[in-house]
Amino acid sequence: MTDTGTDEGLLLALLNSTPVIDGVPADDLADPARARAWLAAAGGRGTEAELRHVRRVRQALQAVVRGQPAAVLAPELAGVTSVPAIDDGRIGWTLRVAPDRALAVRAILAWDALARRSPGRLRPCANDECRLFLIDRSKANAARWCSMAVCGNRMKARRHYQRSRA
Ligand SMILES: [Zn+2]
Repeated sequence: MTDTGTDEGLLLALLNSTPVIDGVPADDLADPARARAWLAAAGGRGTEAELRHVRRVRQALQAVVRGQPAAVLAPELAGVTSVPAIDDGRIGWTLRVAPDRALAVRAILAWDALARRSPGRLRPCANDECRLFLIDRSKANAARWCSMAVCGNRMKARRHYQRSRA
Protein backbone atom coordinates (compact mmCIF):
# COMPACT_ATOMS: atom_id res chain seq x y z
CA MET A 1 0.00 0.00 0.00
CA THR A 2 1.23 3.49 -0.77
CA ASP A 3 1.41 6.21 1.85
CA THR A 4 -2.07 7.18 2.98
CA GLY A 5 -0.81 9.76 5.48
CA THR A 6 -1.76 12.63 3.17
CA ASP A 7 -5.08 13.09 1.41
CA GLU A 8 -3.32 12.79 -1.95
CA GLY A 9 -1.69 9.55 -0.76
CA LEU A 10 -5.12 8.32 0.33
CA LEU A 11 -6.56 9.19 -3.09
CA LEU A 12 -3.86 7.32 -5.02
CA ALA A 13 -3.91 4.33 -2.66
CA LEU A 14 -7.68 4.10 -3.02
CA LEU A 15 -7.59 4.35 -6.82
CA ASN A 16 -4.86 1.70 -6.87
CA SER A 17 -6.57 -0.75 -4.54
CA THR A 18 -7.93 -2.80 -7.46
CA PRO A 19 -4.71 -3.97 -9.13
CA VAL A 20 -4.33 -6.75 -11.68
CA ILE A 21 -1.95 -9.34 -10.24
CA ASP A 22 -0.56 -11.93 -12.66
CA GLY A 23 -3.43 -11.16 -15.03
CA VAL A 24 -6.13 -11.54 -12.35
CA PRO A 25 -8.13 -8.51 -11.09
CA ALA A 26 -7.71 -8.16 -7.31
CA ASP A 27 -9.36 -5.96 -4.68
CA ASP A 28 -7.45 -4.91 -1.57
CA LEU A 29 -10.75 -4.06 0.08
CA ALA A 30 -12.55 -7.35 -0.61
CA ASP A 31 -11.38 -9.27 2.46
CA PRO A 32 -13.02 -7.78 5.62
CA ALA A 33 -9.94 -8.07 7.86
CA ARG A 34 -7.61 -6.60 5.24
CA ALA A 35 -10.14 -3.87 4.45
CA ARG A 36 -10.41 -2.89 8.15
CA ALA A 37 -6.62 -2.63 8.37
CA TRP A 38 -6.55 -0.56 5.16
CA LEU A 39 -9.19 1.86 6.47
CA ALA A 40 -7.49 2.19 9.85
CA ALA A 41 -4.11 2.88 8.23
CA ALA A 42 -5.77 5.63 6.17
CA GLY A 43 -7.14 7.26 9.33
CA GLY A 44 -10.61 5.76 9.07
CA ARG A 45 -12.78 3.91 11.59
CA GLY A 46 -12.80 0.50 9.94
CA THR A 47 -16.58 0.11 10.10
CA GLU A 48 -18.65 -1.76 7.53
CA ALA A 49 -20.55 1.42 6.64
CA GLU A 50 -17.29 3.27 6.05
CA LEU A 51 -16.07 0.47 3.81
CA ARG A 52 -19.27 0.65 1.75
CA HIS A 53 -18.82 4.40 1.23
CA VAL A 54 -15.14 4.07 0.42
CA ARG A 55 -15.72 1.30 -2.14
CA ARG A 56 -18.52 3.27 -3.83
CA VAL A 57 -16.40 6.40 -3.99
CA ARG A 58 -13.47 4.37 -5.33
CA GLN A 59 -15.59 3.12 -8.20
CA ALA A 60 -16.85 6.63 -8.97
CA LEU A 61 -13.38 8.21 -8.78
CA GLN A 62 -11.85 5.51 -10.98
CA ALA A 63 -14.57 6.18 -13.56
CA VAL A 64 -13.99 9.95 -13.40
CA VAL A 65 -10.21 9.65 -13.79
CA ARG A 66 -10.85 7.34 -16.77
CA GLY A 67 -12.93 10.09 -18.37
CA GLN A 68 -16.48 9.86 -16.97
CA PRO A 69 -18.22 13.15 -16.04
CA ALA A 70 -17.56 14.19 -12.43
CA ALA A 71 -21.33 14.28 -11.85
CA VAL A 72 -21.12 10.60 -10.77
CA LEU A 73 -19.52 11.93 -7.57
CA ALA A 74 -22.48 14.16 -6.69
CA PRO A 75 -24.46 11.58 -4.64
CA GLU A 76 -21.36 10.95 -2.49
CA LEU A 77 -21.21 14.65 -1.58
CA ALA A 78 -24.90 15.07 -0.72
CA GLY A 79 -25.38 16.66 2.70
CA VAL A 80 -21.68 17.41 3.20
CA THR A 81 -20.98 20.93 4.48
CA SER A 82 -17.93 22.94 5.34
CA VAL A 83 -18.07 25.38 8.24
CA PRO A 84 -15.79 28.41 8.56
CA ALA A 85 -14.29 29.48 11.88
CA ILE A 86 -11.64 31.97 12.84
CA ASP A 87 -8.53 30.11 13.88
CA ASP A 88 -5.36 31.99 14.79
CA GLY A 89 -6.49 35.10 12.95
CA ARG A 90 -7.43 33.26 9.76
CA ILE A 91 -10.47 31.43 8.54
CA GLY A 92 -10.22 27.66 8.70
CA TRP A 93 -12.81 25.31 7.24
CA THR A 94 -14.10 22.27 9.08
CA LEU A 95 -15.81 19.49 7.19
CA ARG A 96 -19.19 18.43 8.59
CA VAL A 97 -19.98 14.92 7.48
CA ALA A 98 -21.17 11.69 9.11
CA PRO A 99 -18.10 9.92 10.56
CA ASP A 100 -18.53 6.84 8.36
CA ARG A 101 -18.49 9.03 5.24
CA ALA A 102 -15.52 11.22 6.18
CA LEU A 103 -12.79 9.06 4.62
CA ALA A 104 -14.66 8.68 1.32
CA VAL A 105 -15.35 12.43 1.18
CA ARG A 106 -11.67 13.16 1.96
CA ALA A 107 -10.70 11.12 -1.12
CA ILE A 108 -13.12 13.09 -3.32
CA LEU A 109 -11.86 16.44 -2.02
CA ALA A 110 -8.25 15.28 -2.56
CA TRP A 111 -9.14 14.47 -6.17
CA ASP A 112 -10.64 17.95 -6.60
CA ALA A 113 -7.66 19.69 -4.97
CA LEU A 114 -5.24 17.78 -7.20
CA ALA A 115 -7.28 18.50 -10.35
CA ARG A 116 -7.24 22.23 -9.54
CA ARG A 117 -3.59 22.43 -8.51
CA SER A 118 -2.18 20.06 -11.13
CA PRO A 119 -4.74 19.50 -13.90
CA GLY A 120 -4.15 16.39 -15.99
CA ARG A 121 -1.50 14.98 -13.68
CA LEU A 122 -3.63 12.15 -12.36
CA ARG A 123 -4.29 9.54 -15.03
CA PRO A 124 -4.67 5.82 -15.70
CA CYS A 125 -1.58 3.78 -16.54
CA ALA A 126 -1.15 3.57 -20.33
CA ASN A 127 -0.85 -0.21 -20.17
CA ASP A 128 -4.41 -1.29 -20.95
CA GLU A 129 -3.92 -4.54 -19.03
CA CYS A 130 -3.03 -2.53 -15.90
CA ARG A 131 -5.71 -0.94 -13.74
CA LEU A 132 -3.43 1.33 -11.73
CA PHE A 133 -3.26 5.12 -11.78
CA LEU A 134 -0.36 7.54 -11.52
CA ILE A 135 0.24 11.12 -10.45
CA ASP A 136 2.83 12.60 -12.80
CA ARG A 137 5.05 15.02 -10.89
CA SER A 138 7.69 15.32 -13.59
CA LYS A 139 8.41 18.63 -15.30
CA ALA A 140 7.71 17.24 -18.77
CA ASN A 141 4.38 15.71 -17.65
CA ALA A 142 4.95 12.82 -20.05
CA ALA A 143 4.84 9.83 -17.68
CA ARG A 144 2.66 7.05 -19.05
CA TRP A 145 3.17 4.13 -16.71
CA CYS A 146 2.19 3.48 -13.10
CA SER A 147 5.73 2.19 -12.69
CA MET A 148 8.64 2.15 -15.14
CA ALA A 149 9.90 -1.05 -13.49
CA VAL A 150 6.65 -2.91 -14.06
CA CYS A 151 4.49 -1.52 -16.89
CA GLY A 152 7.13 0.65 -18.62
CA ASN A 153 9.52 -2.20 -19.20
CA ARG A 154 6.74 -4.63 -20.04
CA MET A 155 5.31 -2.33 -22.72
CA LYS A 156 8.76 -1.65 -24.16
CA ALA A 157 9.44 -5.38 -24.32
CA ARG A 158 6.10 -5.95 -26.05
CA ARG A 159 6.79 -3.26 -28.66
CA HIS A 160 10.23 -4.70 -29.25
CA TYR A 161 8.74 -8.18 -29.70
CA GLN A 162 6.09 -6.87 -32.12
CA ARG A 163 8.76 -5.00 -34.15
CA SER A 164 11.01 -8.03 -34.36
CA ARG A 165 8.05 -10.17 -35.53
CA ALA A 166 6.97 -7.67 -38.19
ZN1 LIG B 1 0.69 0.07 -14.97
